[in-house]
Formats: sequence, structure tokens, C-alpha cells
Amino acid sequence: MRRFIKQLKNGMLVVSYCTSCQKKIWPPYEHCPSCYRRTSTITAGKFGKIVEFSKSWLEEEKVIVALIDMDGILMLGSVLEGRGISVGAAVKLIATGATPEGKIYFCFRTLDRFDSYTMNK
Ligand SMILES: [Zn+2]
Repeated sequence: MRRFIKQLKNGMLVVSYCTSCQKKIWPPYEHCPSCYRRTSTITAGKFGKIVEFSKSWLEEEKVIVALIDMDGILMLGSVLEGRGISVGAAVKLIATGATPEGKIYFCFRTLDRFDSYTMNK
């Protein structure tokens, strides 16, 4: 978990990975919940798809909160307001980190044509 927070503070999203089960584990755990072996850490991709989204007014400003499927890992994050926010829309992780209070955040935005091009590489 410390590795996860440290990487996150550097703006990099990593997930736990079990080499025995060949499975990504989210949220990160030091031991695989299936076989209890120690997990390693791999870098997660930057692209995902919106599974569901909603507008939230819990914070001081309106925020679009979405459930994002990132290659089989489901994450909650915010999506920058803009065109093309819909279920199934492709998004890119543009910011991640932890606040001084320890609150972890993930921020996405919908893709433009350039992103779609790089995503296929
Ligand atoms: Zn395992």
C-alpha cells in the first residue's frame, strides 16, 4: 500500500498484480485475495471507458463522478466537464494523486481524436 501511495503522489497509477493468478488486483493489496501470495506492482494504463456517471454537488462545485472500467479494473473518479460524456465513452486519466489530508483522487477527461490515435498503438 505504501508503494501505491508513493507512486500516486508522483502522479502514477499502479495496481497490484498476482504473478501466480496472472490477475490485476484492485484496490491494491499486498497479498492476493485468491491465493494469498505476495503481489507485485504494475503500472496501470491511462485509458478507460465510462460505465456509469452522475453529477455530484457534494463538493463546493458541481463534479461529474464516474465509474470507469480501466481494462477490467473499476475505479471511481471525476470527469472534466466537456463533450462526449456518456456511458461507453472512452476517457483518459489526466491526473491522480493524494491530497495532504490523504484523500486519493483520479481525474479523467473524454478523448479527442489525437488520443484515439495514440490509444490504438
Ligand atoms: Zn493469486
